[in-house]
Amino acid sequence: MSLEEVARRYAVAVSPVLLALIDPADPADPIARQFLPSIKELNILPEERADPIGDAAHSPAPGIVHRHPDRVLFKTVSACPVYCRFCFRREMIGPSNNKGHDNKLSPDQFEAALSYIAGQAQIREVILTGGDPFILSPRRVEEISIRLASIPHVKLIRWHTRVPVTDPARVSDDLVAALHGPGAVTWVAVHANHAREFSPSARAAVARLVDGGIALVSQSVLLKGVNDDVETLADLMHAFVENRVKPYYLHHGDLAPGTSHFRTRIEDGLALMKQLRARLSGLEMPAYMLDIPGGFGKVPLESDHLQKTTTGYRVRDIQGQWHDYIAG
Ligand code: SF4
Repeated sequence: MSLEEVARRYAVAVSPVLLALIDPADPADPIARQFLPSIKELNILPEERADPIGDAAHSPAPGIVHRHPDRVLFKTVSACPVYCRFCFRREMIGPSNNKGHDNKLSPDQFEAALSYIAGQAQIREVILTGGDPFILSPRRVEEISIRLASIPHVKLIRWHTRVPVTDPARVSDDLVAALHGPGAVTWVAVHANHAREFSPSARAAVARLVDGGIALVSQSVLLKGVNDDVETLADLMHAFVENRVKPYYLHHGDLAPGTSHFRTRIEDGLALMKQLRARLSGLEMPAYMLDIPGGFGKVPLESDHLQKTTTGYRVRDIQGQWHDYIAG
């Protein structure tokens, strides 16, 4: 087993900004752990899945995932400036033609995806995800914003990105301007997992978004050895709020292949939330969420959606169906 094998199987990239944040003297550095490959990624458990959150089961057209009636995911690109070692879409993302797939929609697929959204009058919100959609040029982002905002029933356009912390220089004034589509409101969900990711350049990138009139929320993943203690999580939530980003979701680690060394147990996540609640204001608290494996949607774990069983847990989806949850 070698790191070459890991790199053959999963894309590897680290941006200079993140490399500069890594302390080479610290073998447990939380930035290094998130981005530098490990041979532990070759340890794949039976319960892990290539498509852990079940995108394929809800994909009526390439690039579209339509799981909830009023919202749709729109995946225009499957590349990122960095590749997180715990990524839930790690089997589907990478540089162009990695694993036989292209890293962006073809012009025909792009038009077909827009036609699908235009033809579904119940869709209010379009969530741009990927890959990382902020890897696109401002011109392409502007085209997407304008085309989506021109669909009368699309009221909200939400971009999910890690670029403000992983490659902050991409958040240019031109990109911020390109996010505004007349007729729709733009939100950006910023993904960060450790307060140290908020380098001075990341803080400046987030400020450009907020000062440019974009509303921001956070998303993070609870990761063993990165942020699975109350001090680190509290510091992370403080960093979000201090940068004018409302904490939104803290995700339980998905069952992506080769990521068991990152996954915490659900009971540990619940205990951490309890400790966080004793320290943080309501403004600073995220919701602890599980994407039910198989495509059944996200549910809050601090709720009656979760029940302990003799073998693990079961989780109730928003339709009321129960699903066994094996790991953790
Ligand atoms: S930036 Fe997002 S999509 Fe890209 S590797 Fe990280 S978690 Fe996955």
